[in-house]
Amino acid sequence: MQSTYKKYDVCVIGAGASGLCAAIAAKRSDPDVSVVMLEEKDRVGQKILATGNGRCNLSNSHMDISHYGGEADRYSKIIENASDEEFFRSLSLIVYEDQDGRMYPYSNQAASVLNALLRTADSLGIDTECGFRVDGVKKEKGRIIVSADNGREVFASTVVIAIGTPAGKYKYDMQPLLTTTGDELVAFRPALVPMYVTQDVRQMKGARFKADVCLVKDGMVVAEENGEVQVGDGYLGGICIMNLSRFVKEDSGYELTFDMAPGVTDRELDEYIEKIVKEPVKISDVLSGLLPKRVGEELIRSCCDDPFKRMAESLTHEEKKKISEKLRGWTFSVRSLGPVNLAQISTGGVCGLDADTLASPSIDGLFYCGEVVNVDGECGGYNLHWAWTSGSTAGRSAVDFLHNKRLEITDEI
Ligand SMILES: Cc1cc2nc3c(=O)[nH]c(=O)nc-3n(C[C@H](O)[C@H](O)[C@H](O)COP(=O)(O)OP(=O)(O)OC[C@H]3O[C@@H](n4cnc5c(N)ncnc54)[C@H](O)[C@@H]3O)c2cc1C
Repeated sequence: MQSTYKKYDVCVIGAGASGLCAAIAAKRSDPDVSVVMLEEKDRVGQKILATGNGRCNLSNSHMDISHYGGEADRYSKIIENASDEEFFRSLSLIVYEDQDGRMYPYSNQAASVLNALLRTADSLGIDTECGFRVDGVKKEKGRIIVSADNGREVFASTVVIAIGTPAGKYKYDMQPLLTTTGDELVAFRPALVPMYVTQDVRQMKGARFKADVCLVKDGMVVAEENGEVQVGDGYLGGICIMNLSRFVKEDSGYELTFDMAPGVTDRELDEYIEKIVKEPVKISDVLSGLLPKRVGEELIRSCCDDPFKRMAESLTHEEKKKISEKLRGWTFSVRSLGPVNLAQISTGGVCGLDADTLASPSIDGLFYCGEVVNVDGECGGYNLHWAWTSGSTAGRSAVDFLHNKRLEITDEI
């Protein structure tokens, strides 16, 4: 096996959103340090292009840790103190904000964000090695040795791990690298992902409806969301379901309960039902003035017999009560989270880093940033915000570490 190595002051492993920011921040902190990004793919920053359906929802102006899970509390200063607008202005990228505070590049193209990062990395003289899959880091004689499975090595004074998580991909094994660092790890779970349910929802496939949704475990509400639900082939999706998926921490026992008429009072619902049952319609049509046709039919089907044959006037008091109750609490049992390739992020990750610098407690000179850290955010630009801000923090911290080490050596002399 061929063994070659290069030396750098700062080595960033993974050239995605957070890794690019780490490298840029390191070089901006001190233009004299040498910085390299090692990327396993043949191109850098590829996930950025897929974000926000190609538009890249890069941040959110409503920024605080209530939108985050995992160990976000620990890193609240990092999350809450950074301005992404300012950061992107420094990269000559103009951003705008929609009415909900979601921020996008003015061009509405994720490629503009990646181009701005690449342009800056290039102009700062940051080296990049693609096709370099790192499978281990170890500290030896005061430097960190970063090795790839093909025998290549990089010797670095400081290292930033920015390898993201398996989310959005089919096959992705992070364990070889992460087990070599000795840092504590919470198992990764797909999140911001649709949820498969045990009930047969095929009749509603393709439908969308508005609802207030509760995620319930053992009769207790774990989290609540509202918004549009989308029905897929055996699963329920849409932003509110994806946000709730971040709270699913075990393999079974969860239910989703839907209020199908948010904003409509009980009295308005009763009046609606009492009025429509007097009209010459089949029972299956009773909810057609409230819900999308297929969704209304499915709800009704679970409440009474022969809804496509019987007329609405034949509904009994009990059946009407059942329909009203189901409109306020239609419940589905969660069979599983959707697969990792459909997930936008993973929960879990590396724990217990320094709250200000993101330094590893195990290896001096090692830092982490981005999704590989145990921090996860809601849909709406929060995960990319974490990538930018944690990346910048880790890059600056790596250079501060270098400077402090040099001072220590000078003092010793
Ligand atoms: C479809 C989709 C849409 C999304 N949309 C949004 C959105 O609009 N807004 C938002 O805030 N978030 C969004 N996200 C989430 C967001 O993209 C991620 O949270 C963010 O990209 C994480 O950045 P990162 O740098 O930590 O990881 P990544 O961007 O995944 O980068 C990690 C890099 O490390 C490389 N790598 C991995 N292992 C190794 C190794 N061993 N050696 C060398 N290199 C390695 C990978 O190839 C990759 O390039 C979306 C995610 C997906 C999948």
